[in-house]
Amino acid sequence: AERSYLSTFTFYDEKFKKRQLEEVNMLNDIERAIEERKFTIHLQPKVCAQTGLIAGAEALVRWKHPKLGFVSPAAFIPVCEKNGIISRLDQLVFEEVCRTLAEWKESGIPLLPISVNISRQQLKNPSFFNDYRKIAEEAGVARGLIEFELTESLMLVGNDFKNAREVIEEIHSAGFTCSLDDFGSGYSSLGLLKDLKIDCLKLDRMFFANRFETPETRAIIESIIILAKKLNIATVAEGVEYKEQVELLRTIGCDLIQGFYFFRPVPVREFERIVLEEAGK
Ligand code: C2E
Ligand code: CA
Ligand code: CA
Ligand code: CA
Repeated sequence: AERSYLSTFTFYDEKFKKRQLEEVNMLNDIERAIEERKFTIHLQPKVCAQTGLIAGAEALVRWKHPKLGFVSPAAFIPVCEKNGIISRLDQLVFEEVCRTLAEWKESGIPLLPISVNISRQQLKNPSFFNDYRKIAEEAGVARGLIEFELTESLMLVGNDFKNAREVIEEIHSAGFTCSLDDFGSGYSSLGLLKDLKIDCLKLDRMFFANRFETPETRAIIESIIILAKKLNIATVAEGVEYKEQVELLRTIGCDLIQGFYFFRPVPVREFERIVLEEAGK
């Protein structure tokens, strides 16, 4: 018994070391990829539940590693967060989004709002809002077309410099809009909705993990959407993969749907093609 315990121990120890090493390697690769601007974005359409038309998109970072191929953000975002480089990565994504919107304006592609994910570290940077405002201004992009997605845990814990309310005030006074991401995934407090003037609430994809919701899940989804409506907050359902879910959301009155049922995240060119086709061009 003792031997097996020891070997288990050794196994975990080695595994841990290997993971650390992998992380260091990954970190090097990430830093190089940032320098060389090897990160790109994909856009996932948000579809209007009532009309079925595309109403906007979320920008999601993509990294094609020279050897490993596409690496999931779920694998490298935590490494970036841990090592303080997430702000640089998120700024790259933001610049890419501004460039894309500027191109659309130039070439007559219908202008749809795009949302970007914001991490806690960015909010710690006091010049964050000014930097982003300048980047958008220089690109000639209407700031109302850009939405920041902040997670509910970030809103609750806040950060060292500002509380959630101040963050949202700054977002609004800089002319951007703001949505509460992953709502219902963790520490949801309805107080958040009362105190924070968010524009949009994104129902966490966990609610749609199963094809058929239990009556309990259904009741919760319905209540959140009704409440949001009363508070004048738009709703987006994330991770929707089945027709039954779309029908339910339509009935309940959810505004937008984002999920594989309609579209996966796609390269920018592909998104443009879809939007132009929809516009009959
Ligand atoms: P998120 O912000 O909740 O983004 C939505 C994720 O759900 C995306 O995964 C998207 O591909 C996935 N998704 C959308 N519809 C469906 C569906 O119907 N079924 C399933 N199973 N999944 C769906 P992705 O692109 O792998 O990103 C994962 C997470 O990584 C994001 O979760 C976000 O937290 C983070 N992330 C992605 N891009 C960025 C970025 O530019 N900056 C930061 N800070 N985080 C990012
Ligand atoms: Ca998001
Ligand atoms: Ca989300
Ligand atoms: Ca799902």
